[in-house]
Amino acid sequence: MKLTFIGACQEVGKSAFLVESDVKIVLDAGMKIREEDSMPDFSKIRADAFILSHAHLDHSGAAPSLYKHHPIPAFATFPTLPLVNLLWEDSEKIAILNKKALPYNRKDVKTLLKHAIPLPYNAQYAFYEDTRFEFFDAGHILGAAQVLIQNKKTLLYTGDFKPEPTRLHAGAKPPKSDVDVLVTESTYGGADHPDRNELEKRFCDQVQDAVDHNQTVLVPAFAIGRAQEILCILQARGVQADFYLDGMAKTVTDIMLDFPSYIKNPNLLRDAVKRTRFMESHTQRQAAVKKPGVIIATAGMLDGGPALSYLKALNHRQNGVVLLTGYQAPGSNGYALLNGQKVRFNGYSDKVNLPVSQFEFSAHASGPELVAYAKAVNPKHVFCVHGDESAAKALVADLKAEGFDASAPTEGKTVTV
Ligand SMILES: [Zn+2]
Ligand SMILES: [Zn+2]
Repeated sequence: MKLTFIGACQEVGKSAFLVESDVKIVLDAGMKIREEDSMPDFSKIRADAFILSHAHLDHSGAAPSLYKHHPIPAFATFPTLPLVNLLWEDSEKIAILNKKALPYNRKDVKTLLKHAIPLPYNAQYAFYEDTRFEFFDAGHILGAAQVLIQNKKTLLYTGDFKPEPTRLHAGAKPPKSDVDVLVTESTYGGADHPDRNELEKRFCDQVQDAVDHNQTVLVPAFAIGRAQEILCILQARGVQADFYLDGMAKTVTDIMLDFPSYIKNPNLLRDAVKRTRFMESHTQRQAAVKKPGVIIATAGMLDGGPALSYLKALNHRQNGVVLLTGYQAPGSNGYALLNGQKVRFNGYSDKVNLPVSQFEFSAHASGPELVAYAKAVNPKHVFCVHGDESAAKALVADLKAEGFDASAPTEGKTVTV
């Protein structure tokens, strides 16, 4: 089995790998978010199949360009297909808005979707008798999968994964098969997460306290997973407030409810959704910022979307708090807000004078969980991808200390295993 690391080498973004045995498989085809022209070049690759671990653009953003010349079967879990199509449509809209060209068009997306084969978790797909693959729940977002490829050797690709259960997902478990090669994400290599229970409590206390003081709470959240996780947390912990949901998170919530078997407790989400107002009009939005309540809105890093409009309105009224719910990349508005810098609104920058807190509701494995997972899988070789240089190298060091043959490959590297 030959493995080529096309991207996600000592960086987060552009996840793409080529697995060659009897069948040539492209595993993920992502783009580097925030650098839209940074995409892998697939023009020289003649693959037989494409397997997508999950919908996020750092894994899927370049996939349609694979379908320009050579349509091949595209495998993904059932919910990944509507989610990823939503993200591609959004990318196309943003590209038009920013007058940038994507390396694919709607026709390529349609070709991909025509060749898409949805599969559930825990069901083997056989290319030939000797080459099979299977999806396993990754506990990361709706439909996110670990991918087990078996030929003469067995390779497990974790994709993005989270072993710890969340409100939405039961948590990733390693497959029972013997694994020769583990390709693992390393986003939080060498780093730990805060205790989830305490984090939830601290978040809900802050929300309740603000609402009790007649304030509006703005919760910028990623559309897939984070927004719905927040709704479930507020519902499960009995927060007494009006809930509002806005942006792409609304469509994603509908998709999520279409696939109840892919979430841990669909009734919790249904109950939370029942009491949540989905914002549709300008009038509704204007009214919401004048009342105490919790507004969950995209984008999660405040780079556009209704979250940015709410931030502007709340800053004007000076009666709100902002609770960020995840990682804020340097250069994003969320990062600027946290660091007291000016926020970029449409066409101008301004200082925001509102209380801001950040809560690390991560959907990735922590450093200790990454090591524990590798120990549970017990492979002969580990390749650490999807982590910036320091995180990937920290995981390599931790794994070597446990006796593993581990490395953080560089872009373009091919290994035979
Ligand atoms: Zn992801
Ligand atoms: Zn990712």
